[in-house]
Amino acid sequence: MSFILKSKEPHCLSELNAVPTNTYDDLKGDCQKETRALLHLDQKGLCAYCQRKFISNVFIEHWIPQSASPELQLKYSNYLGVCSGKLYINENEGTFNVFCSVSKGSRTITFNPLDESHFETLSYNEANQIASSSSKIDSDLNDLLNLNFNILCKLRQDSFERYLKNILQVARSMKLEKLEVLQKAKADQSKDPNEFVHYTVYRLNQLIDLHSS
Ligand SMILES: [Zn+2]
Repeated sequence: MSFILKSKEPHCLSELNAVPTNTYDDLKGDCQKETRALLHLDQKGLCAYCQRKFISNVFIEHWIPQSASPELQLKYSNYLGVCSGKLYINENEGTFNVFCSVSKGSRTITFNPLDESHFETLSYNEANQIASSSSKIDSDLNDLLNLNFNILCKLRQDSFERYLKNILQVARSMKLEKLEVLQKAKADQSKDPNEFVHYTVYRLNQLIDLHSS
């Protein structure tokens, strides 16, 4: 569900990579724009790690850190589109939480947003915190990506509640069965995902189970 299908590498990036002396610093201008736009498209507008909607820039994350595998620094297959990794606690005071790729830095990660089986290990508790049944992935989510601080958990919840309110309103106006609407919303997530899509599907599944029994 949350797994990303990557397009073919942009031609300009393959050309850059074909020059042995080129480094990541040579990815700039139009080619950088094209690469960022393709990541945005492949990920349907959501950050690869936290699944927040991209607000402004798509930042390029090297899944295998550049320091570990410099030969991958110009490979689209190793790139993930990520968010700014900052959420303000108090904008006036300039205090913020650091999370996602900014919190991870250049450390090596096990959790791979391109691997669907990793998403199958994920769940959420009543406080809307994400967890994994794999201890390695669970430690990535908490220690490397810092995906469970209060503001982010609240965003996850609020985004879903808004989405749910919307689809139920449409359902009422069209006199549709609630179960049918929830099932359709779940099916829609693969082509037109809500922000925090994995969490959205998780919550929709809970509601579907509740209404099916
Ligand atoms: Zn993010």
